[in-house]
Amino acid sequence: MLKFKGYECSVCGKAYAPDEVTYTCPADGGNLDVILDYGAISQTSRPPDFQTSPDFSMWRYLPLLPVGDPGHPGTPLRRVGWTPLYRPPRLEAELGLKQLWLKDESTNPTASFKDRASALLVARSAEVGAEVIITASSGNAGAALAGMAAATGQEAVILVPKTAPKPKVAQLRVYGAQVLLVDGNYDAAFDLTIEAASEFGWYCRNTGYNPFTAEGKKTAGLEIWEQVLLKRNLSKPLCVFVSVGDGNIIAGIHKAFKDLHALGWLERMPRLFGVQAEGAAAVANAFAAGVEDIQPVAAHTLADSISVDLPRDGLRALRAATQTDGAYLTVTDDDILAAIRSLGQVGVFVEPAAAAAYAGLTKAARSGQVQPDDPCLALLTGAGLKDTQAAIRAAGDAPIIAPDLTALKECLKI
Ligand SMILES: *Cc1c(COP(=O)(O)O)cnc(C)c1O
Ligand SMILES: [Zn+2]
Repeated sequence: MLKFKGYECSVCGKAYAPDEVTYTCPADGGNLDVILDYGAISQTSRPPDFQTSPDFSMWRYLPLLPVGDPGHPGTPLRRVGWTPLYRPPRLEAELGLKQLWLKDESTNPTASFKDRASALLVARSAEVGAEVIITASSGNAGAALAGMAAATGQEAVILVPKTAPKPKVAQLRVYGAQVLLVDGNYDAAFDLTIEAASEFGWYCRNTGYNPFTAEGKKTAGLEIWEQVLLKRNLSKPLCVFVSVGDGNIIAGIHKAFKDLHALGWLERMPRLFGVQAEGAAAVANAFAAGVEDIQPVAAHTLADSISVDLPRDGLRALRAATQTDGAYLTVTDDDILAAIRSLGQVGVFVEPAAAAAYAGLTKAARSGQVQPDDPCLALLTGAGLKDTQAAIRAAGDAPIIAPDLTALKECLKI
């Protein structure tokens, strides 16, 4: 792969050749950025090539990804990404914003953003000749790996903390993955995957550990570039709101904009706003304190997909905001439930972690942190049916009526 030059450690800055390391920096455990050969890429690709691509999936950006053609045409692997962008006038009016976009990731094959990372990892695992991919997950990452592995006939082993919600575990098992419930927390499952991968020569997909996950996730940033930035002449930088758990999504989106900037295809960086639940705000705490040292918290929030004690990609997640004139915000569980209702009103049904991004945008608009003429986009990372308990909490119970017209009229007050 000529365009893939190697890695650079996000902590010490040391560079590594592609075959020198597989996961994190051997010196300090830092997350590795994938380094691409921008010169080679710009010789063979130009922005108009993407704009005319007939491939309506994340794979339209293959020239910017560190893998070759993933194969498996006609499978769900090739349907990941190119998610829809909505313009909701009703919410624009509610927030007093002139330009608001929602990017809906629930249309991905396993119904969350995580498909972008897992699709790329499955492609990479074929290149490194791995027989088995293993990951630790409490939900969506596991579902995405199980789904993408099933689509391509790849074997997947997924370690889940035994406290994970049963419906999420069921989705993994339906896809035919080997699912093992670990009698311990997510960290225990995480450590065990690393041990198993090294013992058996398996490929480990863990978020904030495998450098390729952020490369898959950056495809959403590339889509924002193509769907918004290349199409409109915005008078101010786009403000992108992203919910943050481990911080790998926001790090991936930042990487997309850095790649585009390095290629000379993006002049003005969008501003990245990370949104965390108040009860799981390790990165937001560091941002508020103005430090890069991220301290763990005892996470508690109904948004299970961002309920993280110690973010595995916290440093890069923090820099995504500090290096782009963005910020971090926190939102309460009640803010998240209100956001689920607001988004529902424009036909978009999301899980709590996805609603958090919109809750953060709402807070920023109301406090004046973003101005009415700041163009804003909220990335909605997962589908509402992933967590029906939360949906019930957001919506409340429907009234029960007698089966006659009088009762119906009375109830509807007509
Ligand atoms: C994983 C996830 C997030 C957060 O992504 P991180 O990389 O952990 O910050 C947000 N929303 C949903 C639906 C997720 O599954
Ligand atoms: Zn290092």
